[in-house]
Order: sequence, then structure tokens, then C-alpha cells
Amino acid sequence: MSTDVIVRLKEMAADPGRVWIVGGATYAGLLAETGRLANALLSLGLRRGDRLLLQVEKCEAVLSLYLACLRAGVVFLPVNPGYTVAETAHFLTDAEPALAVTEPGRVADLAGLGARVMALPDLLALAAGQGTGFDDPVLGPDDLAAILYTSGTTGRSKGVMLSRENLASNAEALVGLWRFSESDVLLHALPVFHTHGLFVATNCVLYSGGSMIFHHAFQPAAVLADLPRATVMMGVPTFYTRLLADPGLTREATAHMRLFISGSAPLSPATHAEWQARTGHAILERYGMTETNMITSNPYEGARRAGTVGMPLPGVQVRITGPDGAVLPQGEAGAIEVRGPNVFKGYWRLPEKTAEEFRDGWFVTGDMGAFDADGYLSILGRAKDLVITGGLNVYPAEVEATLDDLPGVAASAVIGVPHPDFGEAVVACLVPARGAELDEERIRVTLRDRLAAFKIPKRVLVLDELPRNAMGKVQKAELRRAHAGLFEAG
Ligand code: AMP
Repeated sequence: MSTDVIVRLKEMAADPGRVWIVGGATYAGLLAETGRLANALLSLGLRRGDRLLLQVEKCEAVLSLYLACLRAGVVFLPVNPGYTVAETAHFLTDAEPALAVTEPGRVADLAGLGARVMALPDLLALAAGQGTGFDDPVLGPDDLAAILYTSGTTGRSKGVMLSRENLASNAEALVGLWRFSESDVLLHALPVFHTHGLFVATNCVLYSGGSMIFHHAFQPAAVLADLPRATVMMGVPTFYTRLLADPGLTREATAHMRLFISGSAPLSPATHAEWQARTGHAILERYGMTETNMITSNPYEGARRAGTVGMPLPGVQVRITGPDGAVLPQGEAGAIEVRGPNVFKGYWRLPEKTAEEFRDGWFVTGDMGAFDADGYLSILGRAKDLVITGGLNVYPAEVEATLDDLPGVAASAVIGVPHPDFGEAVVACLVPARGAELDEERIRVTLRDRLAAFKIPKRVLVLDELPRNAMGKVQKAELRRAHAGLFEAG
């Protein structure tokens, strides 16, 4: 069994000088703040197992509140502040939080949906009047720590129930794997409503006793200014492409850094290579999802292979299965399934949906992938994004990697579009690099040397940008909808 997050927090807080946030709280200060907040939650009538919905712009208090909920046994439910009031209604009716905490400007809107609502500054003011001593209840590894809603590009978003052990086991595995120590300073520029910034980044720091430089948003210039004081950065691929677009990204600017980590969306091998050429650092790519926490990682020592997400974390098992559910031999592409202490407890109030996504105790991720002979996993895309054209399977990731390699291509997304002859046709959506012009026919001809004919896009569309969510993930369902009529007769 792993060390619980709060047990770890208390160990770290025993050293009065240990810094949690550079220029901000110490761990001792953080522990005191979580005590005041936990007392405030109890004074508001919240009890173990109740949900607390938090929808605010990124700030330090989100992390304090996350830890205060863990102390009180209240289930932490952070929501993207970018969601509209109408979108937020689903989380309120589905999760039935005992309290929703939001920005002052949104209190009336959420109250109008029938929720009990409080503005964050009011909660912090209430906490300021509370004692720091808090009588922590005895909570077990299987107790719920948080519910995170999936981004839900298709269908309703589902509440992912994460236990304390899910979070603790993953934090311990990552700290060891990525060699986190108390001398680390993490540059934190990720959102804190998502597993990446909330659990991966925050818990790696907390479990190692390191510090973080906390940015309220990702601004390339601000990140570059702070890199000389940091040792580790975690980012989504768009962080890396946007930093590469800044001439301030140099070998000198990153000389003090120990590690750059990427995840949440595929990092193109072209970006990996460009980053290495500019800075001398090989970005370490890892793979995970809300339901499973982190699953695989490239090695800290040893080759970090671009275009792969590395090997399963210690304690985590990964297998690849075919359409009939049989485990496939190494090298073959199929469905990625995961088992281990990292895997969630199920979807909130959806036992049937949960059962559908598990096979003999293995969670079916919905991603397709294959292991190479050295044990590195490659992600080939979401199963529902697989293109079946004339009866042949085309994995978008393979075509995208080939396109990203072409001069003048800044980003690509490959989708399947209904086609009268082929059922589905492969279509590429490309964004040109600054100043570059892309020619559809020339690209298709160039691809003939690199891809089998059935994988070559029937159409290459040049777009100003790709639709992405807050984590930089390309929204393929949106692209499919926008271009559904491409091959319609007439
Ligand atoms: P989320 O639950 O929002 O974190 O989304 C999880 C999904 O993001 C996974 O199922 C993958 O499809 C995708 N993903 C995460 N990390 C990677 C990665 N390194 N490469 C490719 N896809 C990734």
C-alpha cells in the first residue's frame, strides 16, 4: 500500500523551512491552510463522501482546497472554468455537490441552477477565521478522493471516481521513475482542473518535498523568464511548439533544467527533434488518462524514443488485445488495456457503463497501440478515430507522423470522412508553418514514397488552425462534423 497524500503532506510540513510555492507558502503554511479550510468545510455542514465542486480560474487556493478535501474526506470535483453555465449544469445535476465554489461573478448563475453556491473569496475568508488544528478522520485507500469529469468529446461527460490509493500509488511510481527530489523546482503552467496539472504535477512535487513556480496561465515569455530557476517542466505538446516559436528558447535558457515531460496528447517526433536540436534536452513523453492516471513513460535513463510513450509504470500492467478480446503477440496493433492500482473505481453513478469498459478486470482505454521489440508502446490513436477505408485499417497517428515530417507542416490531424466507394476516406487537415504554402497535390505525390496507397489522404485540407480543447488535444469529432460532406455527390 502506498503512503496517503495527506500522510506525505504532514511528513513534508514537519520541516518548517520547506518551500511549497516559490515566493509563496511553505509546506507548514500549506498544512495550516488545509486545516483551516477543512474546518470551514465542516462548519458549512460538509461531511465525508460529499462532493465539493470547484470552478475557478487557476490559483494557489485550488491546490489548498484539493488537499483540504482529502483531509476532510470530501470528494474534490474541479471543473474547467472555461465551461459555460449551461455546460456546468450537467456536473451539478449529475454529481449533486453539497457545495459549489466559484468566482464571485458566477455565484448567481450557479445558484440559479439550484446549487448551494459560495464565492471562493468568501470561503477563504471563512477559513481565515478557523483554527489550523484539524482532527483528521481515519480514511482508507479505497475512499474516494476526487471525481474528474472526462472531456466528453462524444456524448455526455462522465465522472471518473478516483481513490486515495489511485493518486498515491501513481505519485510514488512517478517520483521514483522521474527521479524527483527535494531539490527539484517544477515550473507549473498547466491547468489544475485536469489530471495532468492537478495530480501528476502537484503530487510529484508534494511526494518529493520539492517546490514549484506556479504560473496562473501558460505564457511562453513568462515561462522562458522562469526556466533558469526551475529544474523540471511538465507540459502538453502545444507548450513545446509555442516555446519553439519563441527565439528566446535557447540552450542557455534551459541549461539549468533537468527534465522536460510531455503528455495528454501526442508529441510529434518533429517537435521532439526540434526541441533536442535547440536545447539539447530530449523531451520525456508519457501516456495516461483521467481514468487510469499515468500508464506508461519513456525512461529517465536510457533512450527516450520520439513517437513512443515508453514502458508501463512499475506496478502497472498493459496488454494489447484484438477485436475478439484475445491478447495479441508483441508488435501487433490493437486495443490498449490497463490493470493496476492506478485504475479508477468506476464512472460516477454509471455502473453499467463502467462494466462495459472493463474486460476481466482490465480497463479498456479506447486507445489503439502496439509494443515494439524493446517494450516501447506507440499510441496509434483513439479506437473511434481509426479510419477503415475500403476494408483496410488506417491508424491516423502513422499518417500524421509522416505528414508532420514534411517541410512547411506545423500540425496535422487525420480523420475518416464518409465516402461513397470506400466507406470512409482518409482526409488530412494540415496547418502550415508560418510563411509556408502547402499544395494539396504536391503533398499527395510526396506521400507516395512513404505510405502505402490506401493510407494516402484522398484529400488534404489546409486550415488556419486545428480545433483543440484546453489540454491541446485535437477535437477530431469536430473536424469530422465540419467535413462530413466532402465526398457527397454533386
Ligand atoms: P484525458 O483523460 O483528458 O487525460 O485524455 C486521455 C487521452 O489522451 C488518452 O486516452 C490518449 O488518447 C490521449 N493521450 C494522453 N497522453 C498521450 C500521449 N502521450 N500520446 C498520445 N495520446 C495521449
